[in-house]
Amino acid sequence: MFICRISKILKHNATHKTLFLDLKMRAQPGQFVMVWIPGIDEIPMSLSHFGNEIAITVEKVGEATEALHNMKKGDKLGIRGPYGNGFKIVGKKALFVAGGVGIAPLLPLIKEYEGEKCVILGARNKNLLLFEDEIKKFANLYITTDDGSAGYRGFATDLAKKILMREKFDVVYTCGPEPMMKKVLDLCIKSKIPLQASLERYMKCGVGICDSCAIDGYHVCKDGPVFNESILMKLSDFGKWKRNEAGRKISIS
Ligand SMILES: Cc1cc2nc3c(=O)[nH]c(=O)nc-3n(C[C@H](O)[C@H](O)[C@H](O)COP(=O)(O)OP(=O)(O)OC[C@H]3O[C@@H](n4cnc5c(N)ncnc54)[C@H](O)[C@@H]3O)c2cc1C
Repeated sequence: MFICRISKILKHNATHKTLFLDLKMRAQPGQFVMVWIPGIDEIPMSLSHFGNEIAITVEKVGEATEALHNMKKGDKLGIRGPYGNGFKIVGKKALFVAGGVGIAPLLPLIKEYEGEKCVILGARNKNLLLFEDEIKKFANLYITTDDGSAGYRGFATDLAKKILMREKFDVVYTCGPEPMMKKVLDLCIKSKIPLQASLERYMKCGVGICDSCAIDGYHVCKDGPVFNESILMKLSDFGKWKRNEAGRKISIS
């Protein structure tokens, strides 16, 4: 484990912050790290930036993520990783479909992907849109909000359906709420386009030992978090069930 310090904090809105850490790390877009918050917990976080320093973009949902939100510049964190497989760069024209904080693992991929790129960035409302200005520098950006406060009114998947009907892509990359990713999978199967989706499951070890993140025989931490359409089609829990910290199945549809 590397012990590092928070070098910079970006506050996006009341529930999202990006923490930059003074740790040099090479990684694949889509890989994640286990973040140890002293005295609280250790949780998985995607790398929203890596290189001479790394960054994690944190949505406040519970105890550990709230503790990260309360940290200050100079505070210490423990980092293990990078873990997982990451996204594979394929083809010359890609569609990215991001929902909420799901943009975090996609951001380094959008920067690294060489070729034509179109990004659909969806959020519940305009205050929850993340990295809008940064994405515009690298890709053709479409915004969707559930309440219509910015961009197209509706779900990211509604716009994805329209775009996929009029344009051909070599690959679709997605990350966000699982019901959204399930709809993206259905669209890709219909349009016969390869898909890569980054999944989230409750994780403890991050390295394939504890079994907490098992889904239909795969470990999200080691075999994923990125899965392609041929595996996603076979995952009976995908878009329907996840397990909580007690291992109990809970509905996500
Ligand atoms: C590979 C991977 C990458 C991730 N990347 C990011 C990221 O870039 N940014 C980010 O904000 N979050 C990310 N997450 C989710 C993040 O790890 C959880 O939100 C966090 O562990 C919740 O901890 P907590 O103590 O704050 O909340 P808890 O009190 O543990 O839980 C609060 C709520 O969040 C849900 N939750 C807990 N753990 C997870 C999980 N692993 N996946 C989905 N829901 C969960 C719980 O069911 C509960 O409803 C990622 C998860 C994985 C597996």
